[in-house]
Amino acid sequence: MVKFSVIREHEIQAGHRVYGHMGNCGNLHGHSYVFQFHCTNNNLDDLGMVVDFAVIKSTLCKWLDDNYDHRMILWENDPLAHELVKFDPSVVIVPYNPTAENIAQHLLMVVAPEILQGTKIQLTKVTIRETAKCSAICEV
Ligand SMILES: [Zn+2]
Repeated sequence: MVKFSVIREHEIQAGHRVYGHMGNCGNLHGHSYVFQFHCTNNNLDDLGMVVDFAVIKSTLCKWLDDNYDHRMILWENDPLAHELVKFDPSVVIVPYNPTAENIAQHLLMVVAPEILQGTKIQLTKVTIRETAKCSAICEV
């Protein structure tokens, strides 16, 4: 039995810091994050597709645009998050330390099941490239 999957890439700009990190990652800084969404489907559709790429764009990519693009992403346990949001309500406070690994896991385990509900597609893997040399992967 063969298996199919498709990959849709999406780029956003966002800031973060890894709270508790003693090196540069602990500073407020930003990335041109490149996300790769790996999607699968039990059956190909009538056109022979896993999913129309436009569906991934209008769900997962749109979610990133609406929620993280050009925003500062900070952990709720980071004391700076609660101070900064007083001055800039666009700051995004998340329930995890915003490493690429944790962002990928949140998209895979929390965001995707919710926004892909009712579709036949399943997000199986998220790759996040923070720099040309550094990426993280979370997959089921
Ligand atoms: Zn970083």
